[in-house]
Amino acid sequence: MGTIQYTPPADGRLIGWVQDRLQVPDKPIVPFIEGDGIGPDIWAATRRVLDAAVAKAYAKKREIKWLEILSGEKAVNAGISALSQETLDAIRKYRVAIKGPLTTPVGGGFRSLNVSLRQELDLYACVRPVRYFAGTPAPVTHPEKLNVVIYRENTEDVYAGIEWPAGSVEARKLAKFITEELKSPVDSEAGIGIKPMTKKNTARLVASAIRFALEQGRSTVTLVHKGNIMKYTEGAFRDWGYQTAAEQFADQTITEKDVYDKFNGKIPAGKVMIKDRIADAMFQQVLLRPEEYEVIATPNLNGDYLSDACAAQVGGLGMAPGANIGDGVAVFEATHGTAPKYAGQDKVNPGSLILSGVMMLEYMKWNEAANLIVNALGKVIVSKVVTYDLARQMTGAKEVKCSEFANEIIKNL
Ligand code: NAP
Repeated sequence: MGTIQYTPPADGRLIGWVQDRLQVPDKPIVPFIEGDGIGPDIWAATRRVLDAAVAKAYAKKREIKWLEILSGEKAVNAGISALSQETLDAIRKYRVAIKGPLTTPVGGGFRSLNVSLRQELDLYACVRPVRYFAGTPAPVTHPEKLNVVIYRENTEDVYAGIEWPAGSVEARKLAKFITEELKSPVDSEAGIGIKPMTKKNTARLVASAIRFALEQGRSTVTLVHKGNIMKYTEGAFRDWGYQTAAEQFADQTITEKDVYDKFNGKIPAGKVMIKDRIADAMFQQVLLRPEEYEVIATPNLNGDYLSDACAAQVGGLGMAPGANIGDGVAVFEATHGTAPKYAGQDKVNPGSLILSGVMMLEYMKWNEAANLIVNALGKVIVSKVVTYDLARQMTGAKEVKCSEFANEIIKNL
């Protein structure tokens, strides 16, 4: 396997990380991974939209200096591994990166590139904002009432991948140990999976959700767990979540109980209310009382289910953005896959990657450029000039290509 050297743009500058804060120069170097399948199409559209919005918002004072880094099929074709040390090092060094979807080979023995990226860079929070764009076909009567940001723990829970198949030597050995030594009977023919969850990883996830709520002026953070059944993992997540709020944000947070016991149900000004909900009830809550939820912090598996369910409520995954964020390193990415049947057709909706780019701009505190894109995208959808996926659900829509959809957004900036 070969190696690769990345040469950054000469006039770009490094993004810094000082006292837990990102320091963004006016011309930051930002690495991008184009992605496989539809990746090149949606990346080309996204890059043009991001560059146009930044140019418009800051009149050339600011500019993103892009650096292409390789992963997936393009990396393999260039003779390096699908996720090379050089690519990981570049993301660590430049701190903020954006990527298209990557193919995960089907079958045993392959760890998904996306999972590897998250684990190698310790990107512990999977952040998925879900909001409605007027005009998008949606299955509920009031999709606009849902506007949440989901912080899903990204590194542990059943995703730690500690599992043994039924009948294997390991599963039988473990069943015997648990039955005989720990006195909890487990069928010797059971498949066994382990769900590790720690205080330290819960605390950093919940702290980042609370910090986000404080910075963005959102008034609640809800801890979503299944602690009534899994007391020492999910239940502990809830307890550690409340402890994190009390220990790290004592002056800025208040529990739901205190809001009702001491403040007549009104959150005191400047405070974020911390509450918790059991996961199954939460699926009802987001449908029936969506306006009561603003930021959600939840373990890995709950977050996986809940973010897709919420995305469906506002019209589907086609326009759902995402980010994987650690301490001082973040990778923004489309939430869908490589849709190989549409590769190279300039056909699909670039909305998910464009909105991930919006999250990236917000993370860099370039909110003016981010807002321009959100407003323009909203206008384009209302005008019904959309890609095939939205056009097929709308009446009277004009179907355009991926690149033309980007042109429309740029025109409306
Ligand atoms: P997929 O690529 O997400 O595509 C499934 C379907 O979703 C497409 O056929 C299309 O629906 C729709 N779709 C996806 N992206 C769209 C877009 N931008 N605009 C409009 N419609 C879009 O899922 P998949 O086929 O299961 O996975 C393909 C590959 O992607 C696999 O190798 C998988 O491992 C990988 N993957 C990567 C990531 C990642 O990199 N983050 C995430 C998920 C999957 P219609 O057919 O109805 O038009």
